[in-house]
Formats: sequence, C-alpha cells, structure tokens
Amino acid sequence: MLSLEVDRFVAMQKAKIERRMLDPEFLPYDMRQRYPNAPVAFVIDDDLVVETKTRIALSLLVVDSAILAISGMLAYFLAGKTMKPISDMVDEQKRFIGDASHELRTPLTALKSAIEVNLRDKNMTLSDARELLTCSMDQVDRLTHLSNSLLELTKHDLSGNYEDRIREKINVGSVVEQVVSEMSNIGTQKKVALKTDIKEAFILSTSHDIYRLVTILVENAIKYSKPDTEVEVVVYSHKKHVHINVKDHGIGISDEDKNKVFDRFYRADAARNIHGTNGYGLGLAIAKKIITANGGKISVKSKIGEGSEFVVIFPSVSEVKKQQ
Ligand code: ADP
Repeated sequence: MLSLEVDRFVAMQKAKIERRMLDPEFLPYDMRQRYPNAPVAFVIDDDLVVETKTRIALSLLVVDSAILAISGMLAYFLAGKTMKPISDMVDEQKRFIGDASHELRTPLTALKSAIEVNLRDKNMTLSDARELLTCSMDQVDRLTHLSNSLLELTKHDLSGNYEDRIREKINVGSVVEQVVSEMSNIGTQKKVALKTDIKEAFILSTSHDIYRLVTILVENAIKYSKPDTEVEVVVYSHKKHVHINVKDHGIGISDEDKNKVFDRFYRADAARNIHGTNGYGLGLAIAKKIITANGGKISVKSKIGEGSEFVVIFPSVSEVKKQQ
C-alpha cells in the first residue's frame, strides 16, 4: 500500500509540475524567450522512486520484526504470569496425591503383611485370630481417620473464598467450653488437667469450623503434654480481635519446626518418637485452613522440652462488618 502511495504521489507531483510549466507566468521570462516551442515534459528519476520504495520496505521489515519480537516476548511473559497460579495448583495437587498415597500405603502394607503371615500359619488358634482382627481393626481405624482428614482438607481447599460462605455470629467462648468438656475424659486418661479462662467473644464463622479448630488444638495439647501437667485454654476479646490461646507444658516444638508444623503431613521428630501418639500431621494443616478461611491468624510460641502455646486471633464481628 505504501508503495502504491509513492506511485500516486509521483504521478500527481509530475502532473502538477507539468501543469505549472505550461503556465507562462510560472516560467522565467528568459527561458520562454529562449525555447518558445519547447515541449513541456517533466521526467521523474525512476531510480529515486525505486530507492524510496526499497527504503520503505526495509524500514517496515525492521519495525515489524521489532514489533513481532516485542509482542512475542510480552505475550510469553503475560502467559507465564497467567499460567503461574494454575501450574502452582497442579503441582500442589500432584504433591497432595503423592503424600496421601504414601500415607495410605503404610497402614495398608501393615494390614496386608499381618494377614499374610497369619494365613500362612497352619497352627493359628482362635486367640491368634482375635489378635489379628483387633490389630486389623486398629489399622482400619487409622485408615478411616486418615481418609476423613484428607476429605476435610480437600473440602476446605474447594470451599473457595470465605467471604462467599454463609457465616453467622457465634460465641467462641461457648463452643470452646463444649469442646473442653468433651475432651476432659481424654485429659483424665493421660493425667492432663484442662484449665479454662473463657470469656464471651463473638466472631463471624460457623460453629462447626470453630469446634473443629479448637478440638485439633486441645487434642494436640493433651497428646503432646507430659503427665501431671495442665493445659490452659483461654478465650477473650481485646479491642478489634478475639483471641483463643491453648497452652500446654509438653514436649515443645523446636524453632526449626515451628513454621513446618502447619504443613500437610509434617510431624516433628519429637512427636514421632512418643510411643502411642499416632497422627498424620494433618490436624494443624486443617486448623490453618479453617483459620485462614475465617480471616484469622495462628502463631505458635514454644520451647523444646517446656511446652507450647498456640495463639489464634480472629477479627471481631464489628471489625468484619466494618471491612465489608
Ligand atoms: P499430628 O498431631 O496428627 O501429628 P498435627 O498437624 O496436629 O498432626 O501436628 C503436626 C505436628 O506438630 C505434630 O506431629 C507435632 O510434631 C507438632 N505439634 C502439634 N501440636 C503440638 C503441641 N501442642 N506440642 C508439641 N508439638 C506439637
């Protein structure tokens, strides 16, 4: 098109100049005198036109290539940026499936080998069979607990933005009191006394979320406590926030493990080494999801060998309404 435009410009310019040359007023007087019958023809330098066209073509080539390269790089960069959350999610799901299958395999392998050994035993007595069944029941319980935890974790992943969920004004204090009274039996069995200082404190959430959260924290506090110690559960409202503190005098968590305990399937070595405490390292991951889904935060203060204190802070009802 630019080339055609050049041709049009040349033709028009030629016609214009030729027209002017015919005009007696335009030509200098002495020229007309000297060549009165000279034909009027204006010759355009074709080389110049060709050169101009070539220059235009070259410039276009350079500019277009630059535009193509820049837009290509920009598109690549933007596509990478857009795809990042999706590829992160896919990686996360792959990791989750890998971790979950690994954890599921352990009790299944134990179950299978126990059954195989006993099946091969020709002198198996009724009491052996009973023992095998009890052992198998334990493994089945562990598997049920694990699959329930996995389901719970994925449910929180899928439930989306917490602002979209229907939440109501609930008194954290009364939910915590209910959990503590239900857990006191387990505490007694482990010689751990539950001490409370619970005030009325309202947040926007669901009773089920807070019930699960406090159950996980109190269960852990009892599980990792030393015998003949106390677990303190405190609930209060301060300024714009509601605090839930669960403190124990148990094995404690090392500085290195403090950030990792909220990761899925993470269990500190100290916890693994305690005989009789089984777990999959999913409780605190579920707790964290519940807290984040309700706009709260969790932190842990702990010293190895002395005990731990989990501190949960939620925005109060008035604060959440102000933000909306
Ligand atoms: P689980 O207790 O089933 O192993 P959790 O996700 O609830 O899984 O906890 C993850 C890890 O955090 C535990 O294995 C333990 O190492 C550590 N932990 C949690 N709560 C406490 C606590 N109160 N005292 C000491 N360690 C704890």
